[in-house]
Amino acid sequence: MGTANKLAPLGFGFMRLPLKDENDPASIDIEKTCELVDVFMDAGFTYFDSARGYHAGKSEWALKKALVERYPREAFTIATKLPAWLAENAEHARAMFDKSLRECGVAYFDYYLLHNLGESLTQCFEDFGLWEFCAQMKAEGKIRKFGFSIHDNAEELERVLDAHPEVDFVQLQINYVDWESDIIQSRRCYEVCQARGLPVVIMEPVKGGTLVKLPDAVADVLRTAEPGAPLASWALRFAGSLPNVIAVLSGMNTPEMVAENAAIMRDCPPLTDEERQVIDRAREVLAGLPGVPCTDCRYCMKGCPEGVHINTIMQSLNIYDQMGDAHRAQENYNWNAGDGKASACIQCGACEAVCPQHIEIVSQLERAADLFE
Ligand code: SF4
Ligand code: SF4
Repeated sequence: MGTANKLAPLGFGFMRLPLKDENDPASIDIEKTCELVDVFMDAGFTYFDSARGYHAGKSEWALKKALVERYPREAFTIATKLPAWLAENAEHARAMFDKSLRECGVAYFDYYLLHNLGESLTQCFEDFGLWEFCAQMKAEGKIRKFGFSIHDNAEELERVLDAHPEVDFVQLQINYVDWESDIIQSRRCYEVCQARGLPVVIMEPVKGGTLVKLPDAVADVLRTAEPGAPLASWALRFAGSLPNVIAVLSGMNTPEMVAENAAIMRDCPPLTDEERQVIDRAREVLAGLPGVPCTDCRYCMKGCPEGVHINTIMQSLNIYDQMGDAHRAQENYNWNAGDGKASACIQCGACEAVCPQHIEIVSQLERAADLFE
């Protein structure tokens, strides 16, 4: 964990791995993934974060191939997650645990999480008895630390923790843009965990990559303050400077990205007060620009009956709004929306119910259809 003069460790999120076919999330390039794992391990980091659902169900398998079969078990820690909302019944949900053990090729998980609580999703974990089930797996030594990830506000987090004080840690979305957000409430959620002495794993420190592709007006604030510092370092250091953090996760897909992030987290000091003020300024400038806070997590797309390419459509809107580049936005739309155009939306609302960023997807799709079709 981070200390007063050291950042928290970097964690390797196995959700944006290099692919053989860009259109097929299951086509993970294992050879390239091995290379990334080696760069990460050589830098002295050991935390890997997967989930049953990542990469169309292939992320855990990739973990086995690129890590478990190549390093001694005690050299790394593995976290993976149980998506009860994908299960048909309790038996099916519980069977996911054994399946994950098999797919990862391990006898126990260092960290095991109930995946993506919040809003309507929390109840199915109760209905399927998964809290009790995981407590039992922990007692049997198959789980070392048990926790959950959540995309909801501090009130819902309090509610879950009141009902389940037995957890060892919580995984939260934290980055400098969402820190003071009324919707995501990163700061308040973090404070809830701190008040209960619960360590935190941080996800989305770079907000799905958006904090390294900042609009010029925002990037200028950071570049002027520290010329030469990569934009990623502001985002990672913000997350890594918080006390009581187990790992700051990053979904990395090139050796250069792993090396850069690892160097930041290994060698850079925590933020100074002056640097925090720079980040406050950058956040203010960003808040003044229009845009859709989509992190490209794609949860919305799993249940869309029309196969609308929601994530890429939100991206096109952001290119249009934030970069002011109508041509590139249209190109992005033409290239990526394919057979899942915004106009195909039947306004059923399924996507809005699961979007962790609480985006009004339906009205944004209407706007996209007007702009790009
Ligand atoms: S509201 Fe539209 S985009 Fe959302 S799930 Fe329904 S059809 Fe898909
Ligand atoms: S619209 Fe929401 S659920 Fe869909 S990809 Fe963006 S952030 Fe994720």
